[in-house]
Amino acid sequence: MASKLLKGRLCPACGSKALRIVRRPFSLKGTYLGDFEADECAHCGDYGFTAAGSKAVEKAAKAQGLWGTGGADIAPVAHPKHSKAHA
Ligand SMILES: [Zn+2]
Repeated sequence: MASKLLKGRLCPACGSKALRIVRRPFSLKGTYLGDFEADECAHCGDYGFTAAGSKAVEKAAKAQGLWGTGGADIAPVAHPKHSKAHA
């Protein structure tokens, strides 16, 4: 089940369907955490971490003591923030 094209998903940057699973490095606060699963667009090269990749990022960050330490805004691409803070 490795490196298959993802069906039904589009590149958010260019709209291409040519997304594929790759592994991309992720660093947090200057610390390299490892390579994690991401969808990469074969057309424009843009990529975002998959749900599984984001979980792995979180796990690695926690293992390094970098998760939830305040300050840094940790937002892997697969976790878009929805600011509903309308006061
Ligand atoms: Zn693209």
